[in-house]
Amino acid sequence: MTTVKTIEINGAEGGGQILRAALSMSAALGIPFHIRNIRGKREKAGLGRQHLSSVRAAAAICGAEVTGAEMNSTELTFVPGEVQVGSYRFDIGTGGSTALVLQAIVPALICSLKAGEKASVTVTGGTYCPFAPAFEFLKETLEPCLNRMGYPVTFTMPRPAFFQAAGGLVRMEAAGPFEPAPLEFRERGSLKSVSAVILNCHLPPEVAEREKKVLMRDFGDRLGLTEDAVTLDANPAIPEAGNAVLIRTGFESGTSVFSEIGRPRLAAESVAKIAADESAAFLEADVPVCRHLQDQLLVPMALAGGGHFVTTAPSAHTRTCAQVIQAFTGKPVHMDQQKHGWLITVP
Ligand code: ATP
Repeated sequence: MTTVKTIEINGAEGGGQILRAALSMSAALGIPFHIRNIRGKREKAGLGRQHLSSVRAAAAICGAEVTGAEMNSTELTFVPGEVQVGSYRFDIGTGGSTALVLQAIVPALICSLKAGEKASVTVTGGTYCPFAPAFEFLKETLEPCLNRMGYPVTFTMPRPAFFQAAGGLVRMEAAGPFEPAPLEFRERGSLKSVSAVILNCHLPPEVAEREKKVLMRDFGDRLGLTEDAVTLDANPAIPEAGNAVLIRTGFESGTSVFSEIGRPRLAAESVAKIAADESAAFLEADVPVCRHLQDQLLVPMALAGGGHFVTTAPSAHTRTCAQVIQAFTGKPVHMDQQKHGWLITVP
């Protein structure tokens, strides 16, 4: 019997994303890992609710033996079994990000999907959370890229919820087979549209008006945003108070969604400005892959035959994610600065 070597990971080099990348790679490749210093440099180090849910979800899909899967744990050992395709439900128990729990398990689960098989995952938690993909990003930005790589996934949001509440639902459904295809994403084609949605639920309308004012006054020209391309949405399906600004840039090659979520001590003006600054930087960069999509493409690509994409300067998330991939595969992800942006090559 051959023993598979355990991969050692230092979690201090990043946040929850190192852990999620390791969970995906481990479950997909059947390679155990040990991570220490989980979220070591974060204010509150160790596993938070969303990270713990990701660990439990990854363990459930591949029958892993896990030690250290507790709240605030800074160390974890994960020994995967075989991925079992099927129907799964996970509840974060707080308004933690449903998208990030999916990030930890979708590539590994779908990699095992054969013709005639189906898989689904429903996660309960938040669908609009700070520092995480909004549902629209998952659906409109990530899903088409996953489909291009042969992951036959569809995301839906049966129930939206802000991070302050715990009752949002996001679902992933897939019908096999997984047909891995290298991703080639180097051009974005011409710009088709720029639009914005201001979600403002059970809060004074003035919040949305202040956000719209910043979008139009400070970014109208830079984004090419017209009055009628800004929608105010009080979404009555969301029972709790919450606020978000979502900006969509639609290019021939796909849509990028930029979001910022309203939260305590962040002025409405800043919520609008952060989302608008990010989308303006993307429009001006002349690359097809935005800053947040970057790191989220790496693991699915590594498991689907690799490929290339062009993006802005690699983020810390992208660099740490690349290190995790190299630790599991022995192959480096290359990042080369070009005249326009950076070319990322995934083996
Ligand atoms: P920590 O609290 O340690 O930072 P975390 O699990 O909450 O851990 P990160 O490790 O920072 O989060 O990872 C966040 C993930 O969410 C990354 O994949 C990042 O690209 C993505 N992300 C963050 N903000 C956005 C956004 N506005 N739109 C799309 N994706 C986002």
